[in-house]
Amino acid sequence: KNKTTKKIKIAVAQGDGIGPEIMGATLKILEAAGANIAPNFIELGEQVYLSGNTSGIKTEAWETIGDAKIILKAPVTTPQGKGYKSLNVTLRKSLGLFANVRPVSALHPYVKTNFPNMDVVIVRENEEDLYAGIEHQQTDDVVQCLKLITRPGCERIIRYAFEYAKAFGRKKVTCMIKDNIMKLTDGLFHKVFVEIAAEYPDIINESQIIDIGAAHLAAHPERYDVIVTSNLYGDIISDIAAEIGGSVGMAGSANIGKNIAMFEAIHGSAPDIAGQNIANPSGLLNAAVNMLAYIGQTEIADNIKNAWLTTLEEGYHTADIYNNKFSIKKVSTSEFTDAVIERLGEKP
Ligand code: ATP
Ligand code: MG
Repeated sequence: KNKTTKKIKIAVAQGDGIGPEIMGATLKILEAAGANIAPNFIELGEQVYLSGNTSGIKTEAWETIGDAKIILKAPVTTPQGKGYKSLNVTLRKSLGLFANVRPVSALHPYVKTNFPNMDVVIVRENEEDLYAGIEHQQTDDVVQCLKLITRPGCERIIRYAFEYAKAFGRKKVTCMIKDNIMKLTDGLFHKVFVEIAAEYPDIINESQIIDIGAAHLAAHPERYDVIVTSNLYGDIISDIAAEIGGSVGMAGSANIGKNIAMFEAIHGSAPDIAGQNIANPSGLLNAAVNMLAYIGQTEIADNIKNAWLTTLEEGYHTADIYNNKFSIKKVSTSEFTDAVIERLGEKP
């Protein structure tokens, strides 16, 4: 390892619930693998909300984020009750994180799934659509939410999906829309998809109506490769994909903006199992592996990924995936972490 290279600054949010446990595990593995990073811890989440700050994030945290431009974030808990704004929406909008990328692949036979050949990446638009926050009370009995779709927004996310496919050797991009009903908004998304697809003749493209697309994804996920879609549809189908792919504890995601990116697990803070040292750190670890690839530390990323796969293949499974004949030893969060560290440097 080149010790003289400057360490890359990362803004790290420890999160709530199982957050600190899975972040501790992830950082321990990254350090053992020699990741060239300098974690700068930021304060956001439940404690900040409860201190009376309804945004849930401290001013100093924004400064650290602006400086580092890379965030590794554990899940946070938004307190029940009125007035607490979702940190995820705040971060995505404030930082212009336009693409939400969620790879879900089966680890058959080591992790139980009905879909052994599933290997899907969902690229979800992250800022527009019904999430633009334009809601009105028309009368006492009539309310309205506006669906906002822009050509630049469509171009950016669809191009990102094709560039992603190209960079990662993926063969097909599927667009999911409902343009038979929403002829203007979804019609624009579809039209831009057809235009941009023409620039990538080596990648197969197809379009499906979202309802049948979601149904087919649930029944035949192996038919899909990269899926690009608008914000709300992407939210729904990425939960479907994660659910049928195995455990929610396994998948990580990237929120990509211009010169800035945030990496996180797809699951929530799981208060039901917090503080018990039983959570699966794999989702956040996978997000961190993608982060290392994003900052160019691909060898270290591959080493961690291989050690993680070997650990799972040898049957070291946390409780959420301890459910088949390949599960040899039921391990805690920290035992799983140490098992991954022991396997660093092994050939895949
Ligand atoms: P949020 O609203 O924050 O997304 P949620 O209601 O979707 O939360 P999660 O916190 O994601 O819920 O948890 C859903 C279920 O999955 C819970 O039973 C939880 O224990 C389990 N779970 C989530 N993450 C993990 C993990 N990393 N390891 C093991 N189990 C997990
Ligand atoms: Mg959730």
